[in-house]
Amino acid sequence: MRECTGYEITQEWLYHLGVPVDQIPDMAKNSARCIPCMMPYITSFFMPRTSGDRPKVVPEKCVNFAFIGQFADTVRDTVFTTEYSVRTAMESVYTLLDIDRGVPEVFGSCYDIRVLLDSTSKMMDGKKLTDVKLPLATRVKLKSAMKEISGTIVEELLERYNLI
Ligand SMILES: Cc1cc2nc3c(=O)[nH]c(=O)nc-3n(C[C@H](O)[C@H](O)[C@H](O)COP(=O)(O)OP(=O)(O)OC[C@H]3O[C@@H](n4cnc5c(N)ncnc54)[C@H](O)[C@@H]3O)c2cc1C
Repeated sequence: MRECTGYEITQEWLYHLGVPVDQIPDMAKNSARCIPCMMPYITSFFMPRTSGDRPKVVPEKCVNFAFIGQFADTVRDTVFTTEYSVRTAMESVYTLLDIDRGVPEVFGSCYDIRVLLDSTSKMMDGKKLTDVKLPLATRVKLKSAMKEISGTIVEELLERYNLI
C-alpha cells in the first residue's frame, strides 16, 4: 500500500465498493482526487492499556471539566471509533450536569458467539477450519470433533459463519 499512488488506491477502493470493473479506471482518474498520506503512529491506539494510563472522562472530584475523545478512559469500549468519542462526550455532559440519562451500552460483541465466529472467519481470510494445515494428531481430533457436532447447533453455527 505504501508504494501505491492515489489513483491506484482509489481503483482498489472502487473495486471493493462493487463498481463495475470497466468503469473503475475512468472514475478513479477523472472523478476523484486521492492524496495518500501515511499515519505512522496510528497503531499507538492499539497498544495495551491499563487502568490509569488515560484520564477518566470525569476524574474523581472534578465538577467543571472532563476529558473526551479517544484518549479518555471509559469502561469496556474500544478506541478508534467515532462512537467512542460520542460516548465519552455524552458521559461527560450527563455526569457534570447531573442529567439522569444513560449512555448507550457498548454492544457486548465479545460475549456473542456469532460475532466471535464471524470475526474468526474474517481473520482467517475466509479460510475454513478444515482447510487449515494442521499436524496429523490435531487433524484426527478435529475429525472426531466434527463427528461429535454433526447435526447440532454448533455445526449449524460453524457453517453459517463459513468456518466449515
Ligand atoms: C484512517 C482512519 C480511519 C478511521 N475509520 C473509522 C471507522 O471506520 N469508523 C469509526 O467509527 N471511526 C473511524 N476512525 C476513528 C474516528 O475517525 C475518530 O476516532 C474520531 O473522528 C475522533 O473524533 P473526535 O471528535 O474525538 O476527534 P477528532 O475528529 O480528531 O477532532 C479533534 C479536532 O480538534 C482539532 N484540534 C486539535 N488540537 C486543537 C487545538 N489545539 N485547538 C483547536 N482545535 C484543535 C483537530 O483539528 C480536530 O478537528 C478512523 C480514523 C482514521 C484516522
